[in-house]
Amino acid sequence: MIKKVLIANRGEIALRVMRSCREMGITTVAVFSESDRTSMHVRYADEAYFIGPSPSAESYLMIAKIINAARQSGADAIHPGYGFLSENAEFADRCQKEGIIFIGPSSYAIKTMGDKITARKTMVDAGIPVVPGSGVISDEKDALAKIKEIGLPVMVKASAGGGGKGMRLVNKEKDIVSSIRAAQSEARAAFGDDTIYIEKYIKSPHHIEFQILGDKYGNMIHLFERECSVQRRHQKVVEETPSPLMTPEIRKEMGECAVAAAKAVDYSGAGTIEFIVDDNLNYYFLEMNTRLQVEHPITERVVGVDLVKQQINIANGLELELKQEDICQYGHAIECRIYAEDPENNFMPSPGVIKHITEPLGLGVRHDGYVYEGFEIPIHYDPLISKLVVWAKTREEAIARMKRALYAYKITGVKTSISFLNRIMQTPDFVKGKYNTHFIEKNSEFLMFPDKHETKIEDVAIIAVYVDYLDRLNNLQMEVHSKNEKKNWKNCGRRLNFNRF
Ligand code: ADP
Ligand code: ADP
Ligand code: MG
Repeated sequence: MIKKVLIANRGEIALRVMRSCREMGITTVAVFSESDRTSMHVRYADEAYFIGPSPSAESYLMIAKIINAARQSGADAIHPGYGFLSENAEFADRCQKEGIIFIGPSSYAIKTMGDKITARKTMVDAGIPVVPGSGVISDEKDALAKIKEIGLPVMVKASAGGGGKGMRLVNKEKDIVSSIRAAQSEARAAFGDDTIYIEKYIKSPHHIEFQILGDKYGNMIHLFERECSVQRRHQKVVEETPSPLMTPEIRKEMGECAVAAAKAVDYSGAGTIEFIVDDNLNYYFLEMNTRLQVEHPITERVVGVDLVKQQINIANGLELELKQEDICQYGHAIECRIYAEDPENNFMPSPGVIKHITEPLGLGVRHDGYVYEGFEIPIHYDPLISKLVVWAKTREEAIARMKRALYAYKITGVKTSISFLNRIMQTPDFVKGKYNTHFIEKNSEFLMFPDKHETKIEDVAIIAVYVDYLDRLNNLQMEVHSKNEKKNWKNCGRRLNFNRF
C-alpha cells in the first residue's frame, strides 16, 4: 500500500492532491523550483526537495530530477497533477522501471490518447463517433485535397496539441495555407512536434466531457458530464455540471460511449473523454485527457466522490468499489478559474506580489487555492490563482452563490479575472443556460466593456428623474411639451442602456 507520495507539480493542484493524501494518512513530498521556495505546497508537504531553476524545462519537466527526489525521499508513488509530466508516457514508463508507482494510467494509454491522430483512429476502430476529419497531413497539397473532401469550415489541429494550442479555424480557402503554417509553428514551439491533421468545424459547438474511473481489472464507470463551453481561445474559463444542454437520454448514451472509449485503451485511473456536441445533440469524440482535470471538483461535489482518493486506490491495485448504478448527480456545481491576468488588457498575465487576499467562504463554497499575502506569483508558470467552486441544489441558486462568492473574493497586488467572471454570471445567455463555445465572443461587449453597462451614482439620479417623468406621463396624462424634449429623454435612456433595468 502507498505510504508516501511525491507530488510532481506545484500551485493549487499540488495542494489539492496533498489534502487527500493527508486524509488517507499518506506522507507527502513536495518538489520545488527556485521561484517556489516559499510556495504553499512546499509549506504544506511533510518533506520538500529542491529541483532547480524556475523555468519548468529545468525543474518540473525534468524526469531525472523528479525521480531523484522520489528516490531520496523514499516515496513509493508519484502523483503528476495536471500539465507538466502528467501526460508524458516516458515519465510513466520511467517510474515503473524505478519501481515507483505512477498514479495514473498505463504509458500505453497515455501514448495512444496523447497523439490525437492515433486516438481518433483507435476510437473509429472501437465504433466511437469522431469528428469527421483526416489522418496526418503530409504537405500543403495534401491539406487542400483533404479540405476539399471535408468541406469548409475546418479546424487545423496539432496531433500533439493541448491547452488550446496549435489550433486554427479556417473559414475561407484563401486562408488555408497561412492557417496551416500558423498551427504548425505554434505546435512546434509548444510541443516540439508539428504534425497536423484536419477536422470538420462543428458549428455552434458545445464542449461536454465525461469523467471516467477505471480499475486494473476492467471495471469502468463514468461520473457524468461537465459542461465546458465557456471558453476563451479554446481554453475553459467556467465549467458547470450538470450541463444545461443535456437530456437524460443523451446523457445515458454519451456516458456509455465514454466508458466504451476508455475501455478501448484498457484505461485505468481517472480520465476524461471530451466530446464536441452540436445544437442537435449529435456528439463526437474530441480527445481524451489521461489525467486529473482542472475542473474535476464540480464532479466531486455533484456525485460525492473524491477523485484523488479514487486515483490512489486504483494505483494501489484495489478494485473499484463504486458501481455505475451507485453514481447519481445531486444538485448543481459551477467552477470559475481565477487567473492572475488583466481582462481589460487582452488577458495579459499579471504576475506579482499578492498584497491582500480575502478568500470567499460560507455555505456551498469550495476554494482550491495556494497564494497568500506576500507571496509572489511567478512569471514562469500558468497564472492560475485558484479554482472557485460552488454547489447548490438548483442551477439558479448556484449562480447566485457564485456571484456572492466572487463578490467576497478580494485580491490586490495583481490583476485578476474576478470581475470578468462576475459579469459572465450576469450575462443573460449564461443565466438562461443557452450558450456554446462562442459565448465569450458573442457577449464580448457586455463582458469586456463594463463601464458602458455599470450604473454610476450620477446615472441613478438621472434615472430617478426619468422614472418620475414617465410616471407623470402615464398617470397624469401630461401633455408632452415638445417633440424635442421627448427625444432628449429617450436619448438619455438609450445612453444609460435602460433596457437592462
Ligand atoms: P483541462 O481540460 O483540465 O482544463 P487543459 O487542457 O486546460 O486541461 O490543461 C490543464 C493544464 O495543463 C493547463 O495549465 C495547460 O496549460 C496544461 N497543458 C495541457 N496540455 C498541455 C500540453 N500538451 N503541454 C503543456 N501543457 C499542457
Ligand atoms: P486541446 O487538446 O487543446 O484541449 P481540443 O481538441 O480538446 O484541444 O479542443 C479544444 C477546444 O477547441 C474545444 O473545446 C472546442 O471549443 C474547440 N474545437 C476543437 N476542435 C473543434 C472542432 N472540430 N469544431 C469546433 N470546435 C472545436
Ligand atoms: Mg481538450
